[in-house]
Amino acid sequence: ALRLADQRREVDQLLSPLRLSRSDLQRVQALMRQEMDLGLGKETNARSSVRMLPTYVRATPDGTERGEFLALDLGGTNFRVLVVRVAEDSIRMASEIYVIPTSIIQGTGVELFNHIVECIMDFQLKQDLMEQILPLGFTFSFPCQQLGLDKAVLLSWTKGFNASGCVGQDVVQLLRDAALRKQHFTLKVVAVVNDTVGTMMSCGYDDPKCEIGLIVGTGTNACYMEEMRNVGTVEGNEGRMCINMEWGAFGDNGCLDHIFTNFDQMVDEKTINPGKQRFEKLISGMYLGEIVRYILLAMVEKRVLFRGKPCPKLQTKDIFQTKFLSTIEIDGLALKKVLAILRDLDLHASFEDSVLVREVCQTVSLRAAQLCAAGMAAVVEKMRENRGLDQLIVTVGVDGTLYKMHPHFSQNLQQTLQVLAPKCSVTFLQSEDGSGKGAALVAAVACRKA
Ligand code: ADP
Repeated sequence: ALRLADQRREVDQLLSPLRLSRSDLQRVQALMRQEMDLGLGKETNARSSVRMLPTYVRATPDGTERGEFLALDLGGTNFRVLVVRVAEDSIRMASEIYVIPTSIIQGTGVELFNHIVECIMDFQLKQDLMEQILPLGFTFSFPCQQLGLDKAVLLSWTKGFNASGCVGQDVVQLLRDAALRKQHFTLKVVAVVNDTVGTMMSCGYDDPKCEIGLIVGTGTNACYMEEMRNVGTVEGNEGRMCINMEWGAFGDNGCLDHIFTNFDQMVDEKTINPGKQRFEKLISGMYLGEIVRYILLAMVEKRVLFRGKPCPKLQTKDIFQTKFLSTIEIDGLALKKVLAILRDLDLHASFEDSVLVREVCQTVSLRAAQLCAAGMAAVVEKMRENRGLDQLIVTVGVDGTLYKMHPHFSQNLQQTLQVLAPKCSVTFLQSEDGSGKGAALVAAVACRKA
């Protein structure tokens, strides 16, 4: 066995590329800011790795929204149909989850949208809403080029969706065409919304200072209220518009290469979209467990973990789940419990091993939270500058299981953000059922303006 000091040196050598200094993070922040500016410019947009997509959402809720709305939520873990009743003192909702079989998700667009309309009709029947014409908000969480609040051209499918004949098409038109085919003549689609925007809007109903939306779940993304005068890709200079950053793709043009470690490269190479969504692959739930797995494999190879005993099960992709990080990192968790998780993976760990595994998890999740903070620092600093303020007070509406369940992610995010953007006072507000509620609120704001 290696001597303790040698062992420590090996561990630090493996982990040091994942430990980001303040200046590393400031550089990431500056790069994000640069990419945001490029993405907003009409001439420079194509050069940016963050798409900065206009959403045509021009205001957050002001509390005067009222009415009854339908909402669809497609692009998260489940497809849902909802009815949302926005009253003076409350928002009430009823919803139904519908399974979309893989054969439809990866079939034709016609089949997919037919299926969606069938689900809406089933829901309306069950809720006794067949006779009413309710405005519908559609949370559609895939990158879209929006040409209006109710016109969104799909740029690419992600997250395992692959229905043919949809990319390049307006998804609202696809939905309306399907409604006609199914003789549903009263469907009134008024808005398409990204899940980040839905999250911002639903938190915005409770807190008027909420002008940013953040998702840290399977993937990561953010949106915020930008000044129209800075949005070169849309006509007009008055007021503000919510911009869907699609920040998961930050770094896809090579600008973050100095941050990526060998472990990140190995994770990226084994995904269905190598070279794409590189920022997301450092931060979100789909990838953190994989990063940890590759580090553990390297430690076994260096004989600093499990006495160098080979661990065949650890070779399996996704076997080290991101939810294990959440458990292993709980403060004061008995190391016995860490040992139990490792034993389930056929890893016969000593107490020293479990201390080391915990350190690896902490390093990976801390880096994720800090990078997320660097991105968010660029956003809040831009908003502060936009408004010519010495001090910006703003709220971020957040959703996503990693953010909500990890014991330290949110705190690490907030602490780092305070260091990187000291002139901004940022509150994080967890959204409940943001996608559905948010889509209805966008529909409500649209109906109020109409
Ligand atoms: P989506 O973003 O698709 O709406 P979620 O917000 O539910 O989905 O996030 C799902 C992701 O959360 C998965 O990648 C999973 O690895 C991760 N996850 C699930 N449970 C936990 C947990 N307890 N701690 C951290 N991450 C988790």
